[in-house]
Amino acid sequence: MTTVQERQPEQHAFEADVSRLLHMMVHSVYSDKDVFLRELISNAADACEKLRYESISRPQLSTDGAQPEIRVTLNDEASTLVVEDNGIGMSRDEMIDALGTIARSGTRAFMERLEAAKAGEKAELIGQFGVGFYSSFMVADKVDVISRRAGEEQAWKWSSDGKGSYEIVAVDLSEAPVTGTRVVLHLMDDAKKYTSKWTVEKIIRDQSGHVPVPIRLAEKEG
Ligand code: ADP
Ligand code: MG
Repeated sequence: MTTVQERQPEQHAFEADVSRLLHMMVHSVYSDKDVFLRELISNAADACEKLRYESISRPQLSTDGAQPEIRVTLNDEASTLVVEDNGIGMSRDEMIDALGTIARSGTRAFMERLEAAKAGEKAELIGQFGVGFYSSFMVADKVDVISRRAGEEQAWKWSSDGKGSYEIVAVDLSEAPVTGTRVVLHLMDDAKKYTSKWTVEKIIRDQSGHVPVPIRLAEKEG
């Protein structure tokens, strides 16, 4: 049971380095914003692989025997792009670690190079390094991550506008994937093209062709 107390959203500040990274990414005139999708799909595929791996020692984690799948859903009216996987998911603490800090040593090195780079070189660096989850904020002014970790009873929602802080709140299981993660991008006005099936299909084909998990693309009305 979740008490009313637990339903109060908690506010957290991003680690200072995350705020710096987000600021740089949002303000760099990076033309190839398409890479955000490659990053989200790659995280979704990693999560499916982690579930497969953990299920070897804990078979109870994948009781329903669902096949790994990544679903990308576009909603033109709501101006959202959603990437959902049925992978390992994240607990509350894992969300705080993974989506509030710069846990990856590679990212730190990347930031040092990015800060030293000239405007024209920044674009290239972002493309080369793969900027991970935070690249969502190049196209979205709000991101929600709803996740339920395999084997856990509680689901959580992380939300942020990428401007210094994020919020975490417990959510009903009915609002979350059975297990896994749903990333909802509320697209900026100038990123509306990412609700076009044709556009997104092409990006997936060009950038995520090697992903070992099936990707389903759908449009949703309303
Ligand atoms: P990387 O994938 O290189 O670790 P990212 O910035 O792309 O870096 O993601 C940061 C972390 O957030 C991941 O390592 C993972 O722990 C967590 N994460 C992101 N997306 C998902 C997802 N769909 N399912 C589970 N964990 C995720
Ligand atoms: Mg990643």
